[in-house]
Amino acid sequence: MLAQTARVRARRMRRSQRAPCDPGHIELKGNEELWAAAPFGGIQPLGNQLGEGRHCPVCGSTVIRPVGLGQALALLIDELLGRSPPSPIATRSAMALVGWAKHYMGSPASSALSTGNGERIDD
Ligand SMILES: [Zn+2]
Repeated sequence: MLAQTARVRARRMRRSQRAPCDPGHIELKGNEELWAAAPFGGIQPLGNQLGEGRHCPVCGSTVIRPVGLGQALALLIDELLGRSPPSPIATRSAMALVGWAKHYMGSPASSALSTGNGERIDD
């Protein structure tokens, strides 16, 4: 079981051109090609911003970086339409996004909207 998992990981690593796995996943977050190729890990609220999760193809941990609302919705639609039934992570993300939008965009008078535009979070 463990050996099989290791083989799968090794295969993934080769396929994704040996994605770097530094402690903060800085390179993964900063390389658009690697980022887009990494498996989708959901959308989650980060205060008044949104975070996009991706699974590191090397160690499997979930890496989060800020994402704008439009991009978050586009990713979610892709996920929701891409599988039938939708993956649990896509469904959970959509529900989280609804809660986030109600809180931060609930009334037209509130202009507290500030979405991420590619700036990185150092975790
Ligand atoms: Zn990693």
